[in-house]
Amino acid sequence: MNRIFLTLTLLLTISSVLRAQSEFSPCGTKDQKSDWLIKYQANSDGYEKSDDPLYVALAIHIVGDDNGNGYFPKNRVFDALCVLNEDFEPANIHFYTSTDFDYIAESDYYEHNFNQGSNMMNNYYTYNKVDCYIVKDPAGNCGYSSYGDGIALAKGCLSSVDHTWSHEMGHYLSLPHTFLGWEGYEHDYSEPAPNSVNGVSVEKVDASNCSYAGDGFCDTPPDYLNTRWSCDAQGKSTQIQHDPTGVAFRSDGSFYMSYSNGACKTQFSDEQIAAMRANLENEQSYLLTSATPLPDITNDATILYYPIEGEQAPLTGNDMILTWQNMSNATGYLVQINPFPNFGSALFEAYVTTPEITVPNLEVGKKYYWRVRALSEWSSCSPFSLSTSFWVTTPVAVNELEGIQHLTIMPNPVGGGADIRLRFEAQSPLSLSLSVLNAQGKIVSLQNIKPEVGLQFVSIPTASLSPGIYFLQLQSSKGFHYEKFVVQ
Ligand SMILES: [Zn+2]
Repeated sequence: MNRIFLTLTLLLTISSVLRAQSEFSPCGTKDQKSDWLIKYQANSDGYEKSDDPLYVALAIHIVGDDNGNGYFPKNRVFDALCVLNEDFEPANIHFYTSTDFDYIAESDYYEHNFNQGSNMMNNYYTYNKVDCYIVKDPAGNCGYSSYGDGIALAKGCLSSVDHTWSHEMGHYLSLPHTFLGWEGYEHDYSEPAPNSVNGVSVEKVDASNCSYAGDGFCDTPPDYLNTRWSCDAQGKSTQIQHDPTGVAFRSDGSFYMSYSNGACKTQFSDEQIAAMRANLENEQSYLLTSATPLPDITNDATILYYPIEGEQAPLTGNDMILTWQNMSNATGYLVQINPFPNFGSALFEAYVTTPEITVPNLEVGKKYYWRVRALSEWSSCSPFSLSTSFWVTTPVAVNELEGIQHLTIMPNPVGGGADIRLRFEAQSPLSLSLSVLNAQGKIVSLQNIKPEVGLQFVSIPTASLSPGIYFLQLQSSKGFHYEKFVVQ
């Protein structure tokens, strides 16, 4: 059983996320092609190409200040990882990661300049993984990629509509910006572009120089926009530009490697994908693993078992025990408990590897909402369960409902339409209600009994119950007790 001390995490509000993003420049990655990409683009047919799925290991470092404040919530990391994996699905490149993230409390890394960032990446370098650092301020940028060292990401730029991680991963796998050469270059876009900017040939609309101009990919059309920009309904820039021959065009906002808003972005081009795969299979093959991935967790939401929706739930000692469905292929569960149904503002969050958790310090008489998300090293796209609520009541010692002793239920599991036999010893005459609840917390049968003092047997029919998990709930004026049983 997992005993977890709750961590209090303050979620960023949407407005602070947007504010943080607008304060940062989109990307701080060095604006030049790697030597490897120059060689590759000169002879891309000379590289062996496969269609095999490529599995890349990530090491995720979540950075807070010296006091350990400001860590990006686990739940948001999994959301961002899901976006990253969906964006790379067409490339058949898959990222996996230990769900046991590395936490670093270091203010100089939490808000860093490039020197401090470089120290961070040296200190925490992992040989055969892509090190990804989630910080508050990566040198004034939404993110940057240091080829061969790691990726730094601003937590304010990792919302679900953002593709910052995919953009920086593109850089890490050798891709330049679609507007390579224009970084920091000032230009009046109503004028024709010069033939070269910052030593890079300017790509023309007629594609005559696309194999060496700009990013060197012919399936990413000309783009000269070097600050964050919005797209129109067709996904094109509102800003019109003119190529060196005076031909007017708008940039295509669909590319992750452009500076368009996250909402415009949908793709890597085929040539970009081929380059990233060749980079992984040749230059950075140490990042690949032959580990067999687990199948994805089903997208069905996890079903919560106990406490049952809307019920009074007694503490066990000082603890509340929560249980839920064991999801196939899940290697862990993220559990959230919150006094508010929207799980906003402050929340309790814990990660456990079995479908149960022991939570200390919940307040008697208070109502709590909770929900669970199944996860694995390979799969972070599963949704949360529906949230349910419970009221915390005073402790009842398990299996010692007052006035009842030596309670057993047999057989368990039960099958073939047999009855469940409940056996217990009553110490004094009492009124008991005996209900059977299904996994959704609905009462499927109910009987009231008034046992005499002494050994008692009660039969509970199961012939009409479909296979699954059920709860037997005993309630008296003296307390409450439940037992789980399985119908096969
Ligand atoms: Zn970039």
